[in-house]
Amino acid sequence: MSSAHRFDRGHTDDLMTFLAASPSPYHAVAEAAERLEKAGFRQVAETDAWDASAGGKYVLRGGAIIAWFVPEEASAATPFRIVGAHTDSPNLRVKPLPDTGAQGWRQVAVEIYGGTLLNTWLDRDLGLSGRITLRDGSHRLVNVDRPLLRVPQLAIHLDRGVNADGLKLDKQRHMTPIWGLGEVGEGDLISFVAEETGVDAAEIGGWDLMVHSVEAPAYLGRDQELLAGPRMDNLLSVHAGVAALIAASRPGAALTSIPVLAAFDHEENGSQSDTGAEGPLLGNVLERSVFARGGSYEDKARAFAGTVCLSSDTGHAVHPNYSERHEPGHHPMPNGGPILKVNVNQRYATDGSGRAVFAAACERAGVPWQHFVSNNSMPCGTTIGPITAARHGITTVDIGVAILSMHSARELCGADDPHLLASALTAFLEG
Ligand code: ZN
Repeated sequence: MSSAHRFDRGHTDDLMTFLAASPSPYHAVAEAAERLEKAGFRQVAETDAWDASAGGKYVLRGGAIIAWFVPEEASAATPFRIVGAHTDSPNLRVKPLPDTGAQGWRQVAVEIYGGTLLNTWLDRDLGLSGRITLRDGSHRLVNVDRPLLRVPQLAIHLDRGVNADGLKLDKQRHMTPIWGLGEVGEGDLISFVAEETGVDAAEIGGWDLMVHSVEAPAYLGRDQELLAGPRMDNLLSVHAGVAALIAASRPGAALTSIPVLAAFDHEENGSQSDTGAEGPLLGNVLERSVFARGGSYEDKARAFAGTVCLSSDTGHAVHPNYSERHEPGHHPMPNGGPILKVNVNQRYATDGSGRAVFAAACERAGVPWQHFVSNNSMPCGTTIGPITAARHGITTVDIGVAILSMHSARELCGADDPHLLASALTAFLEG
């Protein structure tokens, strides 16, 4: 396919900037908030009383953001149209007592976060990111975005069977990054982070730190029709959702629903947290929005009954070297447009009426789309869609973008697809 000049470079270039600027969920929501602020959205505090005013608003909590746009003509019972996504990606996260080492090497103790493809973290130049919490309760973002750490793979001479027998990695023994040589001192890592962030180490009351690959996202392929980069699962959807919400909220748009972006943390380990999809965050924001506009419980029930959520997350493109693992009749391809994800056992929330909503949005946007369903012999993954549907009783459709190397430290997608997804999401939010 000759796609060299077909795709919207502007959108994909901006996604690359977003990915590089978002090594942690905390950075991703800060980047999203910055783009929303530029478009006229304003942050509202969960601890303040909310008012009935129209316009763009957002709530930030940890690694989650909920943003919505109240049109002038909205009533208390106006339904919502929600784009759902998640901000977290599988990686290695710093343990509470991080300073460790062996044999004269300085190392950092890490936990494995989510369903990480462990081998993809070997022999990469890794930076350190996340947030620190100061004693006064305020947060500072941390981003040491240069080669600092590495998980070195054992040389083949000391592991002769590795290629034939497969690489076996013990999560506790084999994944500890090195970050230098010398004596291990208690408090070394946090002192280093304090210095890098320009704060006094004694002021640090807590931290949430993780490692990231410092290699920049890049176009790939003969015609640069592919995009390689970190955390596309699922920052690709977060970025598209932000772009779609801003596009749908432009002045003069005749909206019959309230467009919403809900980007949650902790999807990769089951969504059970105060910032995860299983928590009350989205429901609280939607309810408070109804009540702030003078709505009753009845108005809230009416609004929720008319609400639809497109939950966008990555899915599997057909792998040329392992095509037998995929469903033979359903082979999503990069640059074929967004995918509709179906699983009758409700690992995905899509049903026939959801399909119709998604197909209509793609048609309005002039965007091609594809079906994804698992091979019956392979267990199917899941996402925030079924949780959102069950938690809030909201009609939910699971969609996304087909990628390769899901949960690798560096994933691969079609360079057209982010823009096609954003166009479909915009048409959906516009109703
Ligand atoms: Zn995901």
